[in-house]
Amino acid sequence: MKGTVFHGPHDVRVERVDDPALQTPTDALVRITRAGICGSDLHFYHGAFPIEPGFVLGHEGVGVIEEVGSGVDRLKKGDRVVVSGLVACGRCFFCRRGQPSQCSESGSAVFGYGASSAGKLGWLGGEQSEAVRVPMADYTCYPLPAAIDDDAAVFLADILPTAYFGAINGNIRPGDTVAIFGCGPVGLCAVMSAKLFGPAEVIAVDSIPYRLELARKLGATPMSLENAQQAILDRTEGRGADVTIEAVGNEGALTAAIMAARGGGTVSVIGVFAAPSFNFPIGYAFARDLKFSIGLANINAHIPELSRLIASGTLDPRPLISHIMPLDDAAKGYEIFNARKDNVMKVLLKP
Ligand SMILES: [Zn+2]
Ligand SMILES: [Zn+2]
Repeated sequence: MKGTVFHGPHDVRVERVDDPALQTPTDALVRITRAGICGSDLHFYHGAFPIEPGFVLGHEGVGVIEEVGSGVDRLKKGDRVVVSGLVACGRCFFCRRGQPSQCSESGSAVFGYGASSAGKLGWLGGEQSEAVRVPMADYTCYPLPAAIDDDAAVFLADILPTAYFGAINGNIRPGDTVAIFGCGPVGLCAVMSAKLFGPAEVIAVDSIPYRLELARKLGATPMSLENAQQAILDRTEGRGADVTIEAVGNEGALTAAIMAARGGGTVSVIGVFAAPSFNFPIGYAFARDLKFSIGLANINAHIPELSRLIASGTLDPRPLISHIMPLDDAAKGYEIFNARKDNVMKVLLKP
């Protein structure tokens, strides 16, 4: 089959790789029909997350079940599914508590991130490919209703549950002011997710005009990064935002999110940080009674409710799609996304 193979920074190529095959009874084989390129994939592309060359990339896939192992109970050949970026068993202590990101059976394995992120599974394929082996398939795949098309479904694999997790961790209450730092695909999914919880205003902060324009269309108040701090104070009688959400994954955005939260407010971090540590203004956070939340989203646990919200028309992530390209053009998709060319937002690949 063909897959998008990482060769090194700024060098991904679509080429022939081994066909995946079932390895354990709880595996399923999924023929991919749509895959996303994620902002976190750009960390590899930049060389910020070193992974071994030769790995197939991609952790956002939708497809059709081609084959299931004898231990798969809830899926059958021909089912349309979204594959969660996160492999989880659905049965361990953590999965039963709704925390599949801490699954003790998979070891928090993520597709397409190289061997170091394959957890206890040792090796996991990537989904920017024609097919993928899905371990623990009953809880890692989620069958899609006909009302959700492949384009919308890709968002369920990672970025929409990630953004929703960020909104839940923010503990947004009706009437709150929420400020979201970063208007990339995850930040804009956070705009949509925050609105589910009844805030009075969602302020979307970025420095790129076309991204702010899309945030405005989604019902947020757009704000340039340089003016954000003062503007947030002005709009909250000098208090700061009740909830801030960091959706970039860098220290500048995180510091801005901390400084923009009101006393007693919550800072919720969903950006993926390539740096192993950062400067945390701990004295300031202490004095301001800030609550701080960070983590790998519990994707599998949130897919069912988000799937119902998309099927009912309450949520529609498709306005975020800027490009749908053939899988063969994946290298070009990476290049466009990385360079923010062509008003790029979400790039989908079609095998
Ligand atoms: Zn992703
Ligand atoms: Zn588990």
